[in-house]
Amino acid sequence: MSGYIETDNRLSVSQAPEQEEMQELALQELLLQAPPESAAPQDIIKWAADTFRPHAAASCSFGGAGGMVIAHMLARCAPDIPLLFIDTGFLFPETYALRDSLIAKYGLRVINIVPSLTPEEQASRYGDKLWERDPDLCCTLRKVIPMQNALYGLKAWITSLRRDQSPTRKNTRVYEIHRFPDGQMTLKVNPLANWRREEVWDYIISQDIPYNPLLNRGYRSLGCTHCTQDCSSCPAELQDERAGRWAGRNKTECGLHTFSKQIDRLSRLDQ
Ligand code: SF4
Repeated sequence: MSGYIETDNRLSVSQAPEQEEMQELALQELLLQAPPESAAPQDIIKWAADTFRPHAAASCSFGGAGGMVIAHMLARCAPDIPLLFIDTGFLFPETYALRDSLIAKYGLRVINIVPSLTPEEQASRYGDKLWERDPDLCCTLRKVIPMQNALYGLKAWITSLRRDQSPTRKNTRVYEIHRFPDGQMTLKVNPLANWRREEVWDYIISQDIPYNPLLNRGYRSLGCTHCTQDCSSCPAELQDERAGRWAGRNKTECGLHTFSKQIDRLSRLDQ
């Protein structure tokens, strides 16, 4: 399958605090022209693409339902905007197949991001089954650093985060200014932040969008095979959309959405 582009990992450099402040102010100013948080997600995506092109990208894991909505809207509103896909090397075959079928169906510009270490190299350097001994380090090596490098230089990052996905995401806003560890300021755009799970599925069904078949087999969301389990037998109170990830561990996020620090204080929720 050649519908995606492989990318290597790049190191990023820090920048001066005054540069960070200028970047933040520039983003705040652009936000004054943004559609309100209550606007249709398609309008929000289109604004982000038109405002930040060519320094905008979306991300999608081809695991959860929300990512399918973002991929579909992107294909309709801004098909030139790249869709970043973190390929840890440990994903379900169904996830890879879904990625390839969406590329074929919608002509998405998927960028396949791979960690700098192959699974074998990681095992050789850090020992076997790092995900069992130190899942935070494993996620950092295979997800966070590669994504951070892929986002280097971008001004807008469109995601499928929603407030109703889990307690850790309950404060998600449509527009968030984030500071990366190297000082880069990026506008995180979460067009579905206000959507409920039912709205996501209504959209998927009404638009006949392919989705990961494992979601019909007891999985609530999908990450790496080593750290995702079927949770059809989980108690109802544990059935949030992130249930089944790192089961039995005190870990609920891989770090992709926690490595950066949200710094803006402007609340646009009232708009
Ligand atoms: S989800 Fe598990 S296997 Fe995948 S990168 Fe994180 S710890 Fe490693």
